[in-house]
Amino acid sequence: MWQTFLEILKIAILIAPFVSYIKAIWNKYTLHLFQRTFQKHNILYVIAHPDDEAMFFAPSIVELRKSNNLYLLCLSTGNADGLGKIREKELQASAAYFGFMACYIVDDSQLQDGKEREWSVEAVARQVEEHLVRLQGEMEINIIVTFDPKGISGHPNHIAVHQGVAAVFNEEKYPFDVFCLTTLSIFRKYSAWGEIYNCGYEHQHYLALTPYHSYRAMMIHHSQFVWYRKLFSIFSSYAYCNSFDLYTHNAEKYKQKAK
Ligand SMILES: [Zn+2]
Repeated sequence: MWQTFLEILKIAILIAPFVSYIKAIWNKYTLHLFQRTFQKHNILYVIAHPDDEAMFFAPSIVELRKSNNLYLLCLSTGNADGLGKIREKELQASAAYFGFMACYIVDDSQLQDGKEREWSVEAVARQVEEHLVRLQGEMEINIIVTFDPKGISGHPNHIAVHQGVAAVFNEEKYPFDVFCLTTLSIFRKYSAWGEIYNCGYEHQHYLALTPYHSYRAMMIHHSQFVWYRKLFSIFSSYAYCNSFDLYTHNAEKYKQKAK
């Protein structure tokens, strides 16, 4: 009896990774049937620091760039350790790697990199709005992609970026929708296969079957590529799955969800 049970358990453990992988492939290639697809949209990624795009947003960038125009706005030079100039260059190279049409890097005295540096909602909103106006001369931004209210890693600069984008969105002066990258619990953050396997259809998902693009882009951020970021870009769920809450232009709904 026990022998049979152990045999079945052994087979189940051996088969599980294959089943999981097949389900992940199935999810990746059928997601478009169950969720909104976007084509010929002008999409602006708003991040706080050089490397946020590589560490957190790679799966969605790689999918959305196939049929949309992507732009990148980074609200600091990442000068917390005095490496701002180097990190600007690294970000421009990473943006080129990902195929962004343009990459704008802000160096504003009120928006300096650091957990202890408080970013006001007004300062963030002003920069976002300035860039929307600047881009409006050429085209209209249809979607802004950014952090959710918890800021993924809880970094105060990430949270401020969300709040600033939300403030511009709630003004309803510009007709863009917002994608907010869902902050995962610590367990889900490092259960990448679980995320891909279980991805439901209530969120907007973008999947990658390997961490290649996240890792490759992090290599470009050479000054930041220390051992724990190497591990993060291989094992974190954000290298494989981006799950977004979508906010269309309905301010009331947005305010309720953003609480
Ligand atoms: Zn960051």
